Amino acid sequence: MESFKNTLIRFMSGRYGIDQLYYAGLLVALGLMMVNLMVNSTILMILSNALILLMVLRGFSRKISRRRSENEQFLKLWNPVKKEGRIFLRRIKEVRVHRYRKCPHCRKMLKLPIKRGKHMVKCPACNESFAVRVLV
Ligand SMILES: [Zn+2]
Repeated sequence: MESFKNTLIRFMSGRYGIDQLYYAGLLVALGLMMVNLMVNSTILMILSNALILLMVLRGFSRKISRRRSENEQFLKLWNPVKKEGRIFLRRIKEVRVHRYRKCPHCRKMLKLPIKRGKHMVKCPACNESFAVRVLV
């Protein structure tokens, strides 16, 4: 067992390994497989398997700087989506106690306590006031 571990370590030395793009690729492939269970398409099967193969080959690649820049490009696209998703989940979680509104002057997202009806709010970031209407 120890010799297998050492062999694996020797094999992976100087190779890129696993990153966020790897996990994203596998998740997309898994999603394609789930869809393929319903539509049973050969194209989807080939696509999902090719994606898995591509992600595994990326992990074994010795062109580390190129793989790293691919991952950075992916993260540049993914991180804003992730941030919006987190805000969306937090809004759902706090729906009973807070409302989120964007300041029309500085575009900053403000977390407001629920106060039904129309009232004025002063943005702590830019000190401008604006009207907020909370219906429910
Ligand atoms: Zn503001």
